[in-house]
Amino acid sequence: MMDDMADHILKSRYLLPGEKDFTDICRRVAGWIGRDEAESGAFFRMMESGEFLPNSPALMNAGTPCNQLAGCFVIPVGNTITGIFEAVKQGAIIQMTGGGTGYNFSEIAPAGTTAEPGGAISPGPVAFLSVFDTVSEVIRQGGRRRGANMGILDIRHPDILAFIDAKDKEGKLSHFNLSVTVPDAVMEAFEGGEREEILSIHPATGRENTIGSVFDAIINGIHRNGEPGLLFSDAINRENRTPHLGEITATNPCGEEPLLPFEACILGSINLARFIEESTLDWKRLERTVRLAVRFLDLAIDRSSYPLPENEDAVKKTRKIGLGVMGLHDALILLGLPYDSPSARECAEEMMAFISETAVDESKRLAEVFGPFPAWEGSVWEKPVRNATLTTIAPTGTISLFAGCSPGIEPVYSFAFWRNNTAGAEFEVIHPLFSARLDEEIASLGYHGDEGRARQKAVIEEVRRCGSLQHIGWLSFEFRKLFVSALDISWRDHLLMQAAFQRHTHASIAKTINLPHTTGHEAIREAILSAWKLSLKGITLYRTGSRRASVYSLTGCR
Ligand code: UDP
Repeated sequence: MMDDMADHILKSRYLLPGEKDFTDICRRVAGWIGRDEAESGAFFRMMESGEFLPNSPALMNAGTPCNQLAGCFVIPVGNTITGIFEAVKQGAIIQMTGGGTGYNFSEIAPAGTTAEPGGAISPGPVAFLSVFDTVSEVIRQGGRRRGANMGILDIRHPDILAFIDAKDKEGKLSHFNLSVTVPDAVMEAFEGGEREEILSIHPATGRENTIGSVFDAIINGIHRNGEPGLLFSDAINRENRTPHLGEITATNPCGEEPLLPFEACILGSINLARFIEESTLDWKRLERTVRLAVRFLDLAIDRSSYPLPENEDAVKKTRKIGLGVMGLHDALILLGLPYDSPSARECAEEMMAFISETAVDESKRLAEVFGPFPAWEGSVWEKPVRNATLTTIAPTGTISLFAGCSPGIEPVYSFAFWRNNTAGAEFEVIHPLFSARLDEEIASLGYHGDEGRARQKAVIEEVRRCGSLQHIGWLSFEFRKLFVSALDISWRDHLLMQAAFQRHTHASIAKTINLPHTTGHEAIREAILSAWKLSLKGITLYRTGSRRASVYSLTGCR
């Protein structure tokens, strides 16, 4: 199930001394989490078969002296120099253990204003970003992967324009994703075409930041190189399951986990493709796996070490877990449903609703035995549950490679491409389902022998060049529709899939809306508005080719 790329990553970063292969990792992790042999055995089978995998820190650290299992953290940043550098230190400690960190910088005084009682002048939030970025560069997540951060600023902060442009050149703040939080009131004004309304007046320069100027900058930034993302703060807090503990103002680096200050979350994802047999979904087996995965992740909370005592306190109050899915696109192909079709979205919605409902049911059962999460009273859950939130959609950037499936709920980016890894090596990747079905397609069109092989080679080369096979007219319409890839899919269809999942996901969704290179500013504006109207919690857009460094390399087109 693992290709060369996955094997390379596994050997260079995940295997501990004495471990030979992925099976050894599964044995260590399952043995550490399970309470007895039978339970560890069940966890082992679920992992080893590629049905479910926990996030990378759990694979790397479970049962080791570090033993930190969570991928996602949120750290509060104060408005004093002591508070800010306390967050720097806390972030460093967390990243050392392999966790990614999210910060909201909105409390930091605008650049050039008096910040502290002593009369010192604030450098502003944007200046501090580079301090956090440098720490990630030095720490390198315990030496095993690039440190990842989310930097967040409220759209009403006076330094918002500098923040939006903080990554205007490639290579700047390379350990950060940047997101702007936008409340409904601002989105409503933006939707109504309002441009002149003032969001903030900069106290040092007197500059007025209007809705028009700030959104122009956001849209230009996205068009330029895919940043910033947007977080819809009211949508996030409408679904805050523990409002009595405070407002949620930040997420982890890829956006899928809105968390309270100091909370952390251990993620784990179910590979949907593994549950399709002869073009139908095995609901019974899926149910068993969801229940087992919930137990795994809930136990992992207690089996994990925490970088800071504040993390342990926050996590054990709400016991949030991050159960998600991967392999969606593969599953849809196996079911014969084109990713961008209404029937695919209906199917996706049915699967995610089932997973969320089953997960909640299992959490209720756990609450009966072990008690509800300690902060349950005063939460929005009427009946006791063990976990304040259960479902999320992670990117599964690495674990989907180990499971040999398409990442998260993303469409396949290209069915054939060269992939660069961080060590600079190039890997040829051909999607296995595509390769098998292409042979059948070519045979069914009557091409055999040398002619068949030549046609197969031509298709693969073309897909590698363009990331698409939609223009290869001699392939059947059905085949082309089934193998649509990320850039063939309109931004509307990307968003509709995200919305189908969001309706049944407690936390949020990591998804990139991939746009063709020719996409203009107006489409970006419309996509932002649509995302908000679809009640999404955030949106990340990326215009292909707008950054030079990209994990994928196609050689031509678009
Ligand atoms: N993450 C990180 N560094 C990385 C990749 C991921 O800190 O290089 C964290 C980050 O919080 C991200 C989360 O792990 O949102 C999940 O990412 P993904 O699903 O891609 O991780 P995987 O478990 O597949 O490595």
